[in-house]
Amino acid sequence: MIYHKSVKLTDKFYCYVWQGRGNNCNSVLWPSVLRGEHPHVLIDPGHIRDEIGETCFDSLAQAMGNDGFKMEDVGLVIATHSHPDHIEAVEPVVKESGALFALSREEDEFYRTMGKSFFQMFGVKPPQVTPSFFVKEGELSLGAKEHKLGVKVLLTPGHSPGSVCLYVEKDRILISGDVVFAGSVGRTDFPGGSPSLLRKSIDELSKLDAEYLVPGHSTEMGSIITGEDKVKRNFYTVKMFV
Ligand SMILES: [Zn+2]
Repeated sequence: MIYHKSVKLTDKFYCYVWQGRGNNCNSVLWPSVLRGEHPHVLIDPGHIRDEIGETCFDSLAQAMGNDGFKMEDVGLVIATHSHPDHIEAVEPVVKESGALFALSREEDEFYRTMGKSFFQMFGVKPPQVTPSFFVKEGELSLGAKEHKLGVKVLLTPGHSPGSVCLYVEKDRILISGDVVFAGSVGRTDFPGGSPSLLRKSIDELSKLDAEYLVPGHSTEMGSIITGEDKVKRNFYTVKMFV
């Protein structure tokens, strides 16, 4: 069963929008970016199974397969933050592909302390993975010179202490994780959440010149926001909530 809808924004940017009834995040794939035999970069692989038993990870693998991409060819997994619905499936991805795993140092610290008990709250087994490196605020350059993918990493705490958002400069695509959604913002009542930091993070994000906003979850207002004006209007609206 496939619960993900594949949305191709560019040749180097596929979004897998979660459409199941239970809770899971949207995932992003940057195909054929890295050198070598495992060229794909996967962001937020999500749950293995959600709270109502939907097979989230199998669905993602199948949806990617329909686009011609194999999970075993993933070479790097990046997590926007360490919540169960974003990183539970990091373990099977790494097992299948030997991929590297990266998140921010701040989020790793949170995960190893408060974050793991957060998994227990949801009855989810925390993934047994160690980060291969940490993503830092600033430029993250991936891939070989001729088709290098320039990504700007923004540290955006508030929903989780070490949340990051990723901005693909060339195509002006902003992956906003659980910081901003269509018509809504991330919760701050989870461990490590902070409304004032979320407000600051959203202010920073709203300065970017984004053509697409790709949020970590869909809402009743939608999922991917397309068009600079609509992205701007969305920031204007959500700022009233924080
Ligand atoms: Zn979250």
